[in-house]
Amino acid sequence: MLARNVDFNLTRVCLECLFASSIYRIAVGSDGVRISMESALTARDRVGVQDFVLLENHTSEAAFIENLRKRFKENLIYTYIGSVLVSVNPYKDLEIYTKNHMERYRGVNFYEVSPHVYAVSDNSYRSMRTERKDQCILISGESGAGKTEASKKILQYYAVTCPASDQVETVKDRLLQSNPVLEAFGNAKTLRNDNSSRFGKYMDIQFDFKGAPVGGHILNYLLEKSRVVHQNHGERNFHIFYQLIEGGEEDLLRRLGLERNPQQYQYLVKGNCPKVSSINDRSDWKVVRKALSVIGFSEDEVEELLNIIASVLHLGNIQYGGEDSGNAYITTDTQIKYLARLLGVDGLVLKEALTHKTIIAKGEELKSPLNLEQASSARDALSKAVYGRTFTWLVNKINVSLTYKNASVIGLLDIYGFEVFQHNSFEQFCINYCNEKLQQLFIELTLKSEQDEYEAEGITWEPVQYFNNKIICDLVEEKFKGIISILDEECLRPGDASDITFLEKLENTVGGHAHLTTHKLADGKTRKVMGREEFRLLHYAGEVNYNVNGFLDKNNDLLFRNLKEVMCMSDNKILTQCFDRAELKDSKRPETAATQFKTSLAKLMEILMSKEPSYVRCIKPNDAKQAGRFDDVLIRHQVKYLGLMENLRVRRAGFAYRRHYETFLQRYKSLCPETWPSWQGKLADGVSTLVKHLGYKPEEYKLGRSKIFIRFPKTLFATEDALET
Ligand code: ATP
Ligand code: MG
Repeated sequence: MLARNVDFNLTRVCLECLFASSIYRIAVGSDGVRISMESALTARDRVGVQDFVLLENHTSEAAFIENLRKRFKENLIYTYIGSVLVSVNPYKDLEIYTKNHMERYRGVNFYEVSPHVYAVSDNSYRSMRTERKDQCILISGESGAGKTEASKKILQYYAVTCPASDQVETVKDRLLQSNPVLEAFGNAKTLRNDNSSRFGKYMDIQFDFKGAPVGGHILNYLLEKSRVVHQNHGERNFHIFYQLIEGGEEDLLRRLGLERNPQQYQYLVKGNCPKVSSINDRSDWKVVRKALSVIGFSEDEVEELLNIIASVLHLGNIQYGGEDSGNAYITTDTQIKYLARLLGVDGLVLKEALTHKTIIAKGEELKSPLNLEQASSARDALSKAVYGRTFTWLVNKINVSLTYKNASVIGLLDIYGFEVFQHNSFEQFCINYCNEKLQQLFIELTLKSEQDEYEAEGITWEPVQYFNNKIICDLVEEKFKGIISILDEECLRPGDASDITFLEKLENTVGGHAHLTTHKLADGKTRKVMGREEFRLLHYAGEVNYNVNGFLDKNNDLLFRNLKEVMCMSDNKILTQCFDRAELKDSKRPETAATQFKTSLAKLMEILMSKEPSYVRCIKPNDAKQAGRFDDVLIRHQVKYLGLMENLRVRRAGFAYRRHYETFLQRYKSLCPETWPSWQGKLADGVSTLVKHLGYKPEEYKLGRSKIFIRFPKTLFATEDALET
């Protein structure tokens, strides 16, 4: 075991071996290699346990966090809860992602090596191969916790360790290169994360019968389009804008009519943060350009894509004159000139569409001028629509290049975690609803899989009680009386519908619900911490107040008809795919944003339900993005939101450990004269003889069809300790 694991390139390596109880320390000093073995107990004291199930005081949140801290201080960022991987963002590069490390985890049993995202990757891969069952790895955690990094590590693991062929190389490259492209267009610097994903992503990686990756498919969720037109202080727009401006070649910028200064663009100045120390926009530009070619974008397509990106910047610089009450007119004609050329539309028509709206009433077209505020919001709506649809086009284009086939699949879900800010709006409502759905899936699949295993092994089991959050999902998504239905109803209602009437309708319809409160309905204590324009949901992870301001607009996500018409006339081939003329003929209102999201989540749940899940739960150690800082309060919140204590409880309620008879016998046979040096009879009988000799009490273990189930970690610890004496 040692020989296999020793990595002499490292000056100090800590290896946690089987069952976490023996720690071998290897140091390469001037006098050569020293290997020392700490006793199981001292080691556990210093680095904690590698599986929370082994924690003596398993119901104590403090003990849980202390274990995380111990490990974090030793750079051991991964810990299990059974088969769930908990990961704490180290905010520094650790030497644990080398090719050697990948090799170490390849084809090795989960528990034989220290916890690692590669172990989860390998385990899913092997289950897919041997059990022929599609897998999925669900990565969750709050912004900055390390979800995207984890998903990239998983993808890299498959790219390096899976068998290859010529055709596979192309697919591998494309799978890997889809990341920088999607990050350029879908990620941005926020206060919480310099490279924050502003969309949800589910990616299928497909493998052929030899286990080689042969294709992939990406589904994207709810891009934060509002960022295109507005950024909070200290935040930026999507990376691609800065990359283009900083890295774009001189003649390219000239063609696009852009200056090499982000401060020139209204859509880039709101956050007052054009440069980020951890980001090099210029070199990232080169990476993205290369990635686009690898994925198979033609030069023309890249040009058209960049025309769109530049157009959005020009749109942002359109300024209006006129009174608030009067007709708005455009004062910046140069922008219109560039826009007309870049979008391939008639300048005058565009100008008209940016200052007027047309409504079809009784078959007749009525045109009315917009006032200043309306015109600015029409312009911003166009920018958001153009960017949002181009992003979806980009994902589709990548999908075409990944050539989806019907094969075995491992899905990776990298989706926004539960969000609670000072001010929570429609976006947080959608994101937290998504987390409720994922929590439901987690409960169902975890409990179900535990139960399935006990059943398959013929073990009787007392089901554990847990909070079923279906009640909250229903409150949000139920037909007619769910929050989304009520919101949609207000969005469709002509007349005086407003964010406030939506709030009132909520009060009247679901006011009595145990998980919903408003200022009016709240008791004295709750009322103090709630605004008048807020409703509060009691989520499984805690309470969140949502401010209803902007709910109707964001849910409607409307683009005036004449702006759509202009886009349909565009010469830009990407835009003609994004804006379909059929949309103009369709008199039905488009689905609202919340309903679209609800539908796509339902589809996602179906996809995930059909697969065998693994979980990576990511934790952010501090808000300062700093290495070595472990902020107790912040971490306690996340342990709660991620439901980790509940997860541990479920896991412990059954049997803490289970091992195949063969593995168990192999490891401990030396402890019993009858099983040493080898057991000739049935494996189950060997294990039975062994544990009786060790003095296991009947309530401490059960023998299933192929595995031994051990209820308490201490039983296993005692056996482990016996090995060392
Ligand atoms: P968001 O929800 O905002 O997209 P996220 O959970 O995807 O957040 P990441 O972008 O994966 O967060 O991580 C944030 C940053 O933390 C990374 O840019 C990187 O600097 C650091 N980081 C995350 N995981 C690791 C890791 N395993 N090793 C080293 N650094 C890491
Ligand atoms: Mg991310």
